[in-house]
Amino acid sequence: MKNHTTPQYLNDLIPEQTQPRYNLRNTSDIPLIHCRTQLYTNSYLPSTIREWNRLPENHRNAPSVTAFKARVNQNATKSSPLYNVGSREGQILHTRLRLSCSSLNLDLYRRSIVDTHNCTCGAVESVSHFLLYCTNFDIHRQRYLANLPCPPIADNLLNGNERLTFEQNKYIFLQDSKIYTINQTFLIFRYAQYC
Ligand SMILES: [Zn+2]
Repeated sequence: MKNHTTPQYLNDLIPEQTQPRYNLRNTSDIPLIHCRTQLYTNSYLPSTIREWNRLPENHRNAPSVTAFKARVNQNATKSSPLYNVGSREGQILHTRLRLSCSSLNLDLYRRSIVDTHNCTCGAVESVSHFLLYCTNFDIHRQRYLANLPCPPIADNLLNGNERLTFEQNKYIFLQDSKIYTINQTFLIFRYAQYC
């Protein structure tokens, strides 16, 4: 939008830069949009303009979208190869749990999709509750998480344990994704209902 590679009606949404009276360091910044509510402050355009203004000049002046992406991603850390372990379905559910955008009630409640963050068992349905404590899944837990090479805490299940070898972590992730796969009917039902 800033570099006019999108339709004009989108380009027009970007506030116009005025010529500064003095030679300031941030003369190439896009003027911030005045927001009265937090909701609007966090919406796409105001938040993206703030992010854009934080970028180095070299990134902002990239000649193409491809060059821009390459410059932005040049220092990005690569995601753990563990996230590619297991079935595609398990990877997707795993990622959603890891990024707090799952169909568990606490995540849905935070997104104002449901009225309660409670599980059917009465406790708050957080990721750690679902993986470690919910009585609805005691049988799956005993079967798949009883013999892990590290304590079955949520961080180990979602991100692996740096003290373990890749193969040991892979084992954890495979056991882990089995729980997701077994419970996928439950999860998919939730997604179908709310998304
Ligand atoms: Zn529960």
